[in-house]
Amino acid sequence: MGPLSQDTLEKCGKCGEVVREHIIRALGRAFHPTCFTCVSCARCIGDENFALDSQNEVYCLDDFYRKFAPVCSICENPIIPRDGKDAFKIECMGRNFHENCYRCEDTLEKCGKCGEVVREHIIRALGRAFHPTCFTCVSCARCIGDENFALDSQNEVYCLDDFYRKFAPVCSICENPIIPRDGKDAFKIECMGRNFHENCYRCEDCRVLLSVEPTDQGCYPLNDRLFCKPCHVKRSAAGCC
Ligand SMILES: [Zn+2]
Ligand SMILES: [Zn+2]
Ligand SMILES: [Zn+2]
Ligand SMILES: [Zn+2]
Ligand SMILES: [Zn+2]
Ligand SMILES: [Zn+2]
Ligand SMILES: [Zn+2]
Repeated sequence: MGPLSQDTLEKCGKCGEVVREHIIRALGRAFHPTCFTCVSCARCIGDENFALDSQNEVYCLDDFYRKFAPVCSICENPIIPRDGKDAFKIECMGRNFHENCYRCEDTLEKCGKCGEVVREHIIRALGRAFHPTCFTCVSCARCIGDENFALDSQNEVYCLDDFYRKFAPVCSICENPIIPRDGKDAFKIECMGRNFHENCYRCEDCRVLLSVEPTDQGCYPLNDRLFCKPCHVKRSAAGCC
């Protein structure tokens, strides 16, 4: 077989130019990747699934469903297929429903904050159901979602950041809160009625890490300042502080 002539090369179904590489095959034709696009958002569709409207206009699936899918009359979201399976749409009283939205209004769960029915995206916490926007940090108003949270003595909900900022003991050296890492309890050192990070509990002269044990590496405070034993002895001998 001889070299291909221009005539036998495939032409793009949109622009009519020859398609040499990255051929998108769709609708029985060949397209340049940049010529096979969603009519609504102009996104290149590539090898993704797409859909056609009655005028054979090409849509990405997102836009197709946004434009043509029936809307659930309870949650007002489109009823779209999941995982390539047909959506199970319930029709009743001339309205459409998600399978999951078609239930007796009285048995639906009520939000623990606003009292309205919670239909989708239920946040379960404290034994109750909440709208995502109703389960928020009392301090920064951030939606907590599925993140960890903490309660104060009034059962007010805090995001962990704010909880520690407000309630964690503060290191008297670096003045940052002493907070648990990776869910483990923080190792807080108490000395002279003050709190310290393990890593901040050092001799103020030689910076050596001090031990909580009463060894030579232990803390020998002088005038409320932290010193190791040798530095304590040096300072005492010099009669300073
Ligand atoms: Zn083209
Ligand atoms: Zn689109
Ligand atoms: Zn619904
Ligand atoms: Zn609510
Ligand atoms: Zn917060
Ligand atoms: Zn510290
Ligand atoms: Zn020292």
